[in-house]
Amino acid sequence: MKKNKNFKKIINFIKSIYTPNPKSKPLNPIIPLHEPVFIGNEKKYVCDTIESTFVSSVGEYVNRVEEWIGDFTGAKYAIATVNGTSALHIALILVGVDENSEVITQPLTFVATVNAINYTGAKPVFIDVDLDTLGLSPDSLKLFLEQNCEIKNNQCINKKTGKIIKACVPMHTFGHPCKIVEIKEICDEWNIVLIEDAAESLGSFYKNKHTGTFGKIGVFSFNGNKIVTSGGGGIIVTDDEELAKRAKHLTTTAKVSHKWEYFHDEIGYNYRMPNINAALLLAQLENLDKFLKIKRDLAFKYKEFFESLGIKFVNEPQYAKSNFWLNAIMFDNKEERDEFLEYSNNNDVMTRPIWRLMNKLPMYKSCQRDSLKNADYLEERVVNIPSGVLL
Ligand SMILES: *Cc1c(COP(=O)(O)O)cnc(C)c1O
Repeated sequence: MKKNKNFKKIINFIKSIYTPNPKSKPLNPIIPLHEPVFIGNEKKYVCDTIESTFVSSVGEYVNRVEEWIGDFTGAKYAIATVNGTSALHIALILVGVDENSEVITQPLTFVATVNAINYTGAKPVFIDVDLDTLGLSPDSLKLFLEQNCEIKNNQCINKKTGKIIKACVPMHTFGHPCKIVEIKEICDEWNIVLIEDAAESLGSFYKNKHTGTFGKIGVFSFNGNKIVTSGGGGIIVTDDEELAKRAKHLTTTAKVSHKWEYFHDEIGYNYRMPNINAALLLAQLENLDKFLKIKRDLAFKYKEFFESLGIKFVNEPQYAKSNFWLNAIMFDNKEERDEFLEYSNNNDVMTRPIWRLMNKLPMYKSCQRDSLKNADYLEERVVNIPSGVLL
C-alpha cells in the first residue's frame, strides 16, 4: 500500500512538470519518454536543401555539421554517417576488427553496440558494468584480462578461444560518463584499441574532456530519441588523420575522387549522412547548449523529488558533467519495478525498463562473459522516466 501511494505521487509529479502542450495536435495525453523539440532553424535549413536540390549525399550542411561536432567535442576530425550503428560498424572496421577478432563490451547497452560488432564477423565478449555509472567496469575488465588473456606478439590473446581481443567498446549509459580514463589505461596496457560508444552522450564530459574523445575513435547517434536529432544519423570522431580519411572513404562507397570516373578501390559502404538530415541536425545543434541546461535543471528537480521519497535517482558521477539524456530511477526489486511500469503506463506516463541484457538475447546467448552480477542487478531494477526537453 505504501508503495502505491508513492506511485501516485510520482505520476502527479511528472504530470505537474510536463503540462501538456495545447498546440500539439492531435492532443496526446501520454507523456512520452523523449520526443524531439524543434524550436530553431530546422524548417529554414531543411527548405534550403530542397530549394537548392542538394538533399542527398553531397552538400554544405554535412560539412558544417562535421565542423560543428569537431569544435564542440574537441576532436580533430568528424565524419557524418546515416546512423549511429553504421558509425560503430565503420569504427570497428577502421581499427582492423574482423572475423578473427573478439571485442569486449558491456551487456547493458542498446542492441546496436553488439550488432555492429557482429557485422564485422567478430565475436563480442561481455564484461560487467559498475553500479554507480551503469558503464563498463574497469575492475571487472582488468580481472577478466588477467584471468583469461595473455599478450603474444603484442596482441591480446583470449586463452580460451585463441582469438585476438582487438577492441573494447564501453558505452556512456544514458549520457553518464563511465570510468573512461581507467578503462583506457587498462586497454593501453593490454594493446586493446578503445572505441567509445558515445551514442547517448553528446554534451557529456569526463572532467573537462568530451566523451568520445578518449578512445582511438568515438561514435555519436542522432536518432529521433537522442538529445538532438537528424531524423536518423550518426558521426565518427577521431584525432587520427589517416583513420579520418579512411572513414570518409569507406562511408562514401570507397569511390576514388575524380571529376567523372566511377572507380572504387575496395568494398565500401553507402553510409554518408544525407544533406537534408544534416540541415535538420545543424539547426538542432544550434540549440544544444540550451537543451543541456534545461535537461540539467529537470534532472536536479527529479533528484530532489525522488530522494525525498527514498527512491534512488541515477545521478551523474562526481567526476563528470552528464547531458542527462535519459533520467532513470532504481527500485528495490523486480516486483516493485514491474508494478511501477504497469501503473505509470496505465496512467499516461511513458516509462520503460532498462534494456534486456545482451547475453539474454537469443543471438548472443552463447557469447563469453564474466559473472555480470551488477548488470543482472540493474536489469531488474532500473526504469527510465520522461526526460524530453521541457519548453
Ligand atoms: C542510439 C544508440 C546507438 C546507435 O543508434 P542508431 O539508432 O543507429 O543511431 C548505438 N548505441 C547506443 C548505446 C545507442 O543508444
